Amino acid sequence: MFEKILIANRGEIALRIQRACREMGIKTVVVHSEADREAKYVKLADESVCIGPPQPGLSYLNIPAIISAAEVTDAEAIHPGYGFLSENADFAERVEQSGFVFIGPRPDTIRMMGDKVQAKAAMKRAGVPCVPGVDGALGDDPASIVKAARSIGYPVIIKAAGGGGGRGMRVVHTEAALLHAVQTTRAEAQAAFNNPMVYMEKFLEQPRHIEIQVLADGFNNAVYLGDRDCSLQRRHQKIIEEAPAPGLTPRQRAKIGTVCADACRKIGYRGAGTFEFLFERGEFYFIEMNTRVQVEHPVTELVTGLDIIQQQIRVAAGQKLGFTQRDIASRGHAMECRINAEDPFTFIPSPGKVTRWHTPGGPGIRVDSHVYADYTVPPYYDSMIGKIIAYGDTREQAMARLSIALSEMAVDGIKTNIPLHLEMLEDAGFQRGGVSIHYLEEKLGSRSKAV
Ligand code: ADP
Repeated sequence: MFEKILIANRGEIALRIQRACREMGIKTVVVHSEADREAKYVKLADESVCIGPPQPGLSYLNIPAIISAAEVTDAEAIHPGYGFLSENADFAERVEQSGFVFIGPRPDTIRMMGDKVQAKAAMKRAGVPCVPGVDGALGDDPASIVKAARSIGYPVIIKAAGGGGGRGMRVVHTEAALLHAVQTTRAEAQAAFNNPMVYMEKFLEQPRHIEIQVLADGFNNAVYLGDRDCSLQRRHQKIIEEAPAPGLTPRQRAKIGTVCADACRKIGYRGAGTFEFLFERGEFYFIEMNTRVQVEHPVTELVTGLDIIQQQIRVAAGQKLGFTQRDIASRGHAMECRINAEDPFTFIPSPGKVTRWHTPGGPGIRVDSHVYADYTVPPYYDSMIGKIIAYGDTREQAMARLSIALSEMAVDGIKTNIPLHLEMLEDAGFQRGGVSIHYLEEKLGSRSKAV
């Protein structure tokens, strides 16, 4: 096992990784920007290294600075968390070339999954069901683009091969709008992702977002840790997540999970990962694979009892999985609310000094956050400042505990989206479970009309 790990991230996930390491007796090095110098988790780490100014491009995305921090502190491995460099294949490669272990999949796996056209082709070969569409990137010939859309059937969605973060896609409802949409998406993709390749698939109208968590050890052992429903989204950003996904039958669950674990073995996957699917009328359609730990991993941890970050570390250290599929059971229900520093109505970010921070507790409540009273939320980074996760024997109990927890929570000095969460937990449609990915935005639309 490693003696020392460098954490190349910030905020709640940096603290989460630090806790996992401490439990395993591993020393931690946290790299931080000038803006995060005073954060408690930075001081709690065994060592910390300032890697640059607040702007992410100059610090958390600064590859040479992170590698030299690992060199001067004698860290053996680097955990990238999520976001920042976590899905950057060049970073993973540089880490390994510099003699450190990258806690994640092999660089070529990350590269393949980062190109959605390649990822989809690989998944199709591995037997994973994909959204119906054209195989490969779209060519330049207008006639064949029109023909392809006709064969798929409108509406279609044009997506950037290099896209991410919900950007670089356009829905097309009619043939008249098709070629212009392809052209515009191409230009945007070139500008945003430095890759003009686009592809086309069927636009699913009322899907849910359901994803499968996997773990693989690179020795041909792979397991699935069940599913999560992350359909409650605003601008393709998840807001509330839960495990297991409501309403799936045990047979549906086992079938899609087995397909994903088999696919991991076929592509030689190593580490933790997530297969993201759209789910409509009982069918799963692969959209992408995330090759890192996800924000919503705690809901799976609560229902399976496994520590996903520790498993990532073990696998990266060359250990085999210590269990098989038969050893994994899911019990009860877990739900997570992402707490964002933002106005709950306008969604405008609300950084600044937190003057009061009172977190909830009680049976089944987990709080993952690096925030404390007197902490200042810097304006430079993502507005998510923590997660409240509730566990219950049933979905109803998890929701009730989550509502109570959120109502006990007191935050002053900044605005948070807690009022929005409380509203959603009271919403009859959400309470029934199984809403589509458009549900929250439709709801928000009617809310602004009511005001
Ligand atoms: P990103 O990497 O940018 O998150 P994804 O491929 O995961 O891109 O898609 C993000 C979101 O866009 C999905 O969660 C879904 O809301 C929507 N989306 C993507 N593809 C389709 C599709 N074929 N039909 C309907 N919605 C889609």
